Amino acid sequence: MGHLIPLVELAKRLVLHHNFRVTFIVPNDGSSMKTQKKLLESLPESLMISTVFLPPVSFDDLPGDVKIETRITLSLSRSLPSFRDSLKVLAGSTRVVALVVDLFGVAAFEVAREFNVPPYIFFPTTAMLLSFIFISPEFDEKFTCEYKDLAEPLQIPGSVPVHGRDVADPFQDKKDEAYKWALYLAKNYPSASGFMVNSFMDLESGAFKALMEGEVGFGVPVYPVGPLVQTGSRNIEQVDNDVQSECLKWLDQQPSGSVLFVSFGSGGTLSHEQFNELAFGLEMSGQKFLWVVKSPHEKVSNATYFDVQSINDPFDFLPKGFLERIKNKDLGLIVPSWAPQIQVLSHGSTGGFLTHCGWNSTLESIVHGVPLIAWPLYAEQKMNAVLLTDDLKVASRVQVDENGLVGRDDIAKYVRRLIEGEEGKLLKNNMRKLKDSAAIVLSEDGSSTKSLAKVAEIWKNQEQIGN
Ligand code: UDP
Repeated sequence: MGHLIPLVELAKRLVLHHNFRVTFIVPNDGSSMKTQKKLLESLPESLMISTVFLPPVSFDDLPGDVKIETRITLSLSRSLPSFRDSLKVLAGSTRVVALVVDLFGVAAFEVAREFNVPPYIFFPTTAMLLSFIFISPEFDEKFTCEYKDLAEPLQIPGSVPVHGRDVADPFQDKKDEAYKWALYLAKNYPSASGFMVNSFMDLESGAFKALMEGEVGFGVPVYPVGPLVQTGSRNIEQVDNDVQSECLKWLDQQPSGSVLFVSFGSGGTLSHEQFNELAFGLEMSGQKFLWVVKSPHEKVSNATYFDVQSINDPFDFLPKGFLERIKNKDLGLIVPSWAPQIQVLSHGSTGGFLTHCGWNSTLESIVHGVPLIAWPLYAEQKMNAVLLTDDLKVASRVQVDENGLVGRDDIAKYVRRLIEGEEGKLLKNNMRKLKDSAAIVLSEDGSSTKSLAKVAEIWKNQEQIGN
């Protein structure tokens, strides 16, 4: 969902502002993808955005513990024959001016070239990560140890220093298949025709300059086109109506800026022990909270990545008597699996967000000016947390103890500091400034609007040459 949502927003802009038609071609692993389908099916017909779900590929031959990045990359590379067929059908009925793939999609480049279609990458996360990916083959030769064992922080072109342990997951184990896939992406990125990055100049001026001025990235054109976040109405359709109105009704009754929103995104799950600590920590903070709960999972922190619904009833895992106590004190609202995040973040009662630092959640917080407690779990979320805390100063980051846990006392402290402490005020102030810049870059003359217009112009001119 974290990649699909901004891609849909990009598609809408290409249709509404630049008169293109867009077709989504979706490889998949056979999981239900209910929420993803709902999102695509809910697009108004007038937009003329169509969708093709490719036949599911099988992962029966893969070991059970295979990493998510390997699964995503393989879901595409194993779908190339059906992807080729789809593109053939499309190219037979219309002039295809560009193929835009997700950051894992380089395997599709070869098919694009067969059809003389330039391949672009929509990069749904930071310019900092893009800069890192470009330089990772060089780092691979330079550092023989694992990133987490490096004594000094890394100097990624254009970015604040990043500790090796905070580098994105697929780079953390050089023996794992996921690392090979990551390097494969990095080595193929220079052959893209361009990158559209869901970020903006004021947010990451250093990293964008490094990419645009050729310090890193081999001169491939890079276009900041963000922040592309889901719009309100779209979100409503994905959420159960009862949940939607329950959340908003409850928020309406709370004082301005008093509520902490707690969510770990579409895929984020905690261990049983951590889940318990969080429940007690929130309760002990004495602050109001709206928590999207997902059933805990012992082994992986992204257990629901492909299918956002928890398999078990997450309420069964809450500490004994928790729900009743929270309700009696009117301290919090607990929502299972999925909440109307945009509506929650844009509500005046919301004063903070405890987030896994998924990039969409981050951008949505920026767009709505909500300060953060950063609790990164997987993927590139730790790098995002570094950007948010060390560079932008809009978040405080939780510290994990020697047992790998964030304890209940600390959680209570983080929450109180954000919602009613001086630190919270400072973070909120910085967030407000970013909120203003975000609105400007997407205005008619804003830098991100112009950047996307540049891409559209290139595609249109190329269409004329073709004609
Ligand atoms: N989201 C939502 N309700 C939820 C959880 C997530 O609407 O309960 C949306 C959220 O607004 C964001 C996306 O799902 O647009 C999650 O993307 P993000 O990049 O933050 O995290 P990911 O799910 O990719 O880890």
